[in-house]
Amino acid sequence: QAKLQGRDRFCFFSSDFARRASEHFSIERHLRRAIEAGELQLYYQPQVSLADGRLVGAEALLRWQSAELGWVTPDRMIPVAESSGLILPIGQWVLATSCDLIRRHQAATGDWLRIAVNVSVRQFQTAGFVETVRQILQQSEVPPACLELELTESLMMNDVAQAIPLLEELHALGVALALDDFGTGYTSLAYLKRFPVDRVKLDRAFVTDIHRSRSDAALAQSLVAFASAMEFELVAEGIEEAVQHERLRQIGFAYGQGYLFAKPLPEAEFLALVRAGQPLIH
Ligand code: C2E
Ligand code: MG
Ligand code: MG
Ligand code: MG
Repeated sequence: QAKLQGRDRFCFFSSDFARRASEHFSIERHLRRAIEAGELQLYYQPQVSLADGRLVGAEALLRWQSAELGWVTPDRMIPVAESSGLILPIGQWVLATSCDLIRRHQAATGDWLRIAVNVSVRQFQTAGFVETVRQILQQSEVPPACLELELTESLMMNDVAQAIPLLEELHALGVALALDDFGTGYTSLAYLKRFPVDRVKLDRAFVTDIHRSRSDAALAQSLVAFASAMEFELVAEGIEEAVQHERLRQIGFAYGQGYLFAKPLPEAEFLALVRAGQPLIH
């Protein structure tokens, strides 16, 4: 009987493994054609000033509606894109599309937007990344300060000795750098001292209970003190409720994003919000 159970468990495990592997290759096969097929889109999630709800920029987030697979979320797509190398053309498309939006909005209204773009480890570590960013900015005639690159802790910690000079090169270009998902990885406050970042984004995991968790509030508070000494800005991710917004404001966070203000929006809806110019506070 014990033997049978063991075998059942093994079969379960191995069929789950097989299912995942086949999903992986199916995503990879379709992703290869997604750019040319025009199946990728960027949605834009507004970032606001917590004091008055004013829109200060947006984060570009990938969306993929595959003809064969339907909607595929970034959490399923990005790991496949990374391991297959497809993240390189996709990442370039994301950068170029974001810069194109910045340029078109400026041409139409005279105003410059600031768009934050997520950069994956593989992209960052590929030789020539800085040059690619420089060329895309130049071709789209976008001032570097309008572009922000979001990098994760694991990306920076993976090889600190290699990361720091690259970050400094990017900074020298004039683009803004943001540390994404802060608190979920291994970065201590001491490391923040060595990274030339302009903004730190506190992960949603610490925002969800900020109004009732003393330890989450304490972490946020120490980050505020450190940010003012180190002169970087703070953004809170995943604000869904007014009580979270209120607490973060008390603690001293200047910026935030989340469903309370706006979900990630298709380009046309995002631009309509920008043009309306109303504060995004409910
Ligand atoms: P992220 O960069 O930390 O992005 C924040 C995620 O939180 C997004 O999920 C966003 O839709 C979601 N979010 C925003 N506000 C709220 C909220 O109030 N509540 C909740 N529950 N969620 C909220 P999304 O779009 O599914 O993206 C997931 C991750 O995929 C991103 O995490 C990022 O790491 C990655 N990603 C997305 N687009 C790109 C891209 O163009 N390139 C790369 N390399 N990675 C990307
Ligand atoms: Mg991000
Ligand atoms: Mg994040
Ligand atoms: Mg995240």
